[in-house]
Amino acid sequence: MSVAGSLLLLPGDGIGPEVMRQVRRVIDWMARRRGIEFAIEEGLVGGAAIDAQGTPLADATMEKAQAADAVIFGAVGGAKWEGLGFDMRPEAGLLRLRKEMDLFANLRPAVVFDALVDASTLKPDVVRGLDLMIIRELTGGVYFGEPRGISDIGKGQRRGINTQVYTTAEIHRVARVAFELARKRGNKVCSVEKHNVMESGLLWKEEVIALHQKEYQDVELSHMLADACAMQLVRNPRQFDVIVTDNLFGDMLSDEAAMLTGSIGMLPSASLGAPDANGKRKALYEPVHGSAPDIAGRDIANPIAMLLSFGMALRWSFDLHAEADLLERAVQNVLKTGMRTADIMQPGMARCSTSVMADTIMREMDKLAA
Ligand code: NAD
Repeated sequence: MSVAGSLLLLPGDGIGPEVMRQVRRVIDWMARRRGIEFAIEEGLVGGAAIDAQGTPLADATMEKAQAADAVIFGAVGGAKWEGLGFDMRPEAGLLRLRKEMDLFANLRPAVVFDALVDASTLKPDVVRGLDLMIIRELTGGVYFGEPRGISDIGKGQRRGINTQVYTTAEIHRVARVAFELARKRGNKVCSVEKHNVMESGLLWKEEVIALHQKEYQDVELSHMLADACAMQLVRNPRQFDVIVTDNLFGDMLSDEAAMLTGSIGMLPSASLGAPDANGKRKALYEPVHGSAPDIAGRDIANPIAMLLSFGMALRWSFDLHAEADLLERAVQNVLKTGMRTADIMQPGMARCSTSVMADTIMREMDKLAA
């Protein structure tokens, strides 16, 4: 048995614990069937942490997150905690993790599984076989730039200000993630900004070109204006391999790309920090969906987004590519058999619970690994 590394599991609220339970079972499967073990810690975050520890993320949990090779995060939030002040909301736990771990690159794959091609609102011919990755800069840009605020400018008028700001270093480190990732995929990067109307966009483009010239000439680089990219994502999304863009455009384009796939219960994500001296990056993996209070506690949530998030951790934090492939292939095969949780149910398919979906995926992993 080899220890692949350490994991901090933060299930959170709502369906978070239900879907995280299925990750635990896949972790056990890896130990049993592949001889791969993880050193595991579990902690509280979000509403669960507010109730038990009086804060959305305790300092001790933050320390464990900094020490772990990967944080696996469920979801946070719920009506019970909605009236609290901004710093005491469940989401503050997630924002603290992102900020203190300096997770500047958000990776959101948009993959259309053959079996779910009809779940997209776009025509099957447009999305069949889609497999793209959006890399969004996560810690800079207009959401964090100074000056910001609302001020009174007299005569009953007010002014709201936010500042879009990027430096060379911020652009290079996220573009580097995109180029490195593209080398392991289709070897194409499309850099997205608005250099025609924004100086920060012009700088973005120039710096991406400079880095490409210096270190990544083997990767095909193209550029697109953000508005054109929004259009191309619904017109011909398969032209893209890796898209890299800033925080604001990435926020929108990644949600748009997500919807090409049809279901929020299927979408994983990763957030990565800078590599340390040994090349290890801080990393947090989470499903795109929230805590889904409307279906929590009923064993009907789709566990696939959470399981695929763990699959991304296997790939990006532990270099366990064969195991990540196995998990992804098992998900594809199970969907092909017609097994469906309620959110992706289609006529003629077999409806199943959270735990039965995970059982079936693990049985398929047994078969594939045999
Ligand atoms: P949501 O993603 O929780 O739910 C949206 C809809 O999708 C709901 O109808 C839900 O039942 C369904 N859904 C989501 N995940 C599903 C799954 N795995 N399987 C089946 N159906 C699924 O978003 P929301 O309703 O806007 O927010 C609910 C709570 O989650 C709020 O408190 C919000 O603040 C929080 N939230 C947290 C995160 C996070 O933790 N990263 C992200 C988004 C929202």
